[in-house]
This record gives sequence, C-alpha cells and structure tokens, in this order.
Amino acid sequence: MAVIYERVALIGLGLIAGSMALAMRRAGLAGEVVGYAKSAETRAIAREIDLCDRVAESAVDAVDGADLVVLCVPVGAMEAVAREIGPRLKPGATVSDVGSVKRTVIDAVGPYIPDGVHFIPAHPLAGTEHSGPRSGFAELFEQRYTIIVPVEGSDPAAIDRLTFLWKGMGALVEEMDPEHHDLVLAVTSHTPHLIAYTMVGVADDLRRVTDSEVIKYSAAGFRDFTRIAASDPVMWRDVFLNNKDATLEILGRFTEELFALQRAIRQEDGDHLHEYFTRTRAIRRGIIEAGQDTDAPDFGRIKAKGD
Ligand code: NAP
Repeated sequence: MAVIYERVALIGLGLIAGSMALAMRRAGLAGEVVGYAKSAETRAIAREIDLCDRVAESAVDAVDGADLVVLCVPVGAMEAVAREIGPRLKPGATVSDVGSVKRTVIDAVGPYIPDGVHFIPAHPLAGTEHSGPRSGFAELFEQRYTIIVPVEGSDPAAIDRLTFLWKGMGALVEEMDPEHHDLVLAVTSHTPHLIAYTMVGVADDLRRVTDSEVIKYSAAGFRDFTRIAASDPVMWRDVFLNNKDATLEILGRFTEELFALQRAIRQEDGDHLHEYFTRTRAIRRGIIEAGQDTDAPDFGRIKAKGD
C-alpha cells in the first residue's frame, strides 16, 4: 500500500497507539512513525520492542515536522497535550485523536489547534482489557469500525486522507456527530463497562462471605464480566467523567428495566422473562451477522488474537 502520511506522531504509546504503529508498519502507510509517552519507562519499553521508528523525549519533539499527529492518551490528558504541542504543529498537518468520548475532547483540544492545521477527531471501536506499549497488535482494527467525527469546517480532503489511513489499517470507517457518537457509545460500551465493574465489585464483597468460591466456580458470565472489569482504571475513570450525561441517561433506563425484571421474577411472570430474553437473543444474532463477533463456543477459553 502507498504511504499516506510521510511522518506520523503518536502521543501516548499504549494499546491503541501501539496497534496503530504496528498496523501502519505492516501496510506501509507511513514514511516514519515517531512516538512519545509520558513516562521514561514506557518510552524505554517502546524502544526495546521497536514499536515505532523513533521515540522522542518530548511531545513537542515528536510532533515536529509531523504530517499527522494522533493523540492516544487518556481522555482527561488530551487538553494538556494539545496545549503543549499546539504552537509546534506544522502548517497543513492534521491532528486527530482516538479518545472514547468526543464532545469533551473536541471542546478541550479544539482551541489549541492553530489556523492552517486540520483537526479531525476519531474513535476506533476496537480494544481489549490490556494496556501499555506491549499490548498492541497489528490486527486490532481489522473489520472493526472507526468513527470519524468531523468538526465544523473540517477539510473534506483531510478527512478523506485520514479515512484512507484507517481503512489501510483494516478498519471500516463511518462518520458521526459528537453528541450521537457519545450516546451510541454510552449504550454499547460505557454503561456495559460500568455494569461489569459493579458486578465484579459485588462478587468481590461476596467472596469474603463465600471464601473464594466466586473465583473457583466462576462461570462464563462472571468471567466475561471480570475480563471487562480488568480494563485500565485511568482510561475508564476519564470516560465516565467525560461522558457523564449520556452515561447517566442510559444508566437511568437500565435501572428501570432492571426493576421491571426484578418485579417479573418476584411475581413469577415467566412470560415476561421469556419474551425479554428472546428479544435480547436476537440482538446477539444481529451482531454476529454483522461480522462484529463470532459465535465460537469458546467461552473465553481460546485466547483472542494478540492477548
Ligand atoms: P493505554 O494503553 O493506557 O496507554 C495510554 C498512553 O498514554 C500511555 O503510553 C501513557 O504513557 C500515555 N500518556 C498518558 N498521559 C500522557 C501525557 N500527559 N502525555 C503523554 N503521554 C501520556 O491506553 P489506550 O487503551 O491505548 O487508550 C488510549 C486512548 O484510546 C484513550 O483516550 C482511550 O479512551 C482510547 N481508546 C481505548 C480503547 C481501549 O479499549 N483500550 C479503545 C478505543 C479508544 P505512560 O505509559 O508513560 O503513562
């Protein structure tokens, strides 16, 4: 594949940036990939595993001369990074990000993007519960959606170029406005994570009562929750603090449904439960038919690619 950007700077060198670096290298999409992470330890690991072509010692050094800069840091760190790099961005460059929330990131980063630099926020809907520079793998984005969230006045040619990059990394690309993105993600990702964190927290309390039976006999349902609840605490703290309204809206609806199911169990209303579970089963089928998961009966026993 042809080079799309001569120099790409990745700020943050964790799961997403690492996977981008490897996917770009595999497809030959960037002339050079320069990386930077906050801690000396992460920078040293990135050098040791040859994650990108060069690891810079500062964010401003990393973005110097870059045609594309991608902010791959936790959502709460985006503003400080943008403030630091803003004055050093090359005219004509594109700044993007991979943050899981879009409205607050756009509001936080936008003011620091100088005239003549394109700002095109994005979010790859792909991830694992692992984090850090060793967790990336080139296949992460394959057949998964990346949502591009253009801001007012975004240059169509710059959007096309970023779209080619994501497609080159194997992603399916769609556009959304920030509010819609944040609501959709509150339903499909953020609230489910909060529920998993809660369920594992409840089981942890119980464990003290049942003396580790929760772990010894953990069944597929609970194990799936523990996998999700092992996700990075900083990243998820920032997601909830930055997608507050949409998450609270969906959580309110969730609580209402939970009460309805609770009542159905108390009243032994089997018809209600059966009807509800039939509807939810159809949603699972839809996800498999859309190619966004497989129905392999591995119950988590077969390790996912790259785990
Ligand atoms: P990660 O593996 O925890 O990596 C985060 C990276 O950001 C680390 O290299 C960290 O450096 C660096 N960092 C933090 N603050 C920084 C700062 N002020 N300046 C420079 N570097 C800084 O996280 P990730 O999973 O790749 O997530 C990165 C972004 O992608 C987040 O915004 C997240 O919302 C989004 N996202 C995540 C997923 C997912 O499933 N994980 C999926 C889609 C999008 P140190 O190691 O030195 O601290």
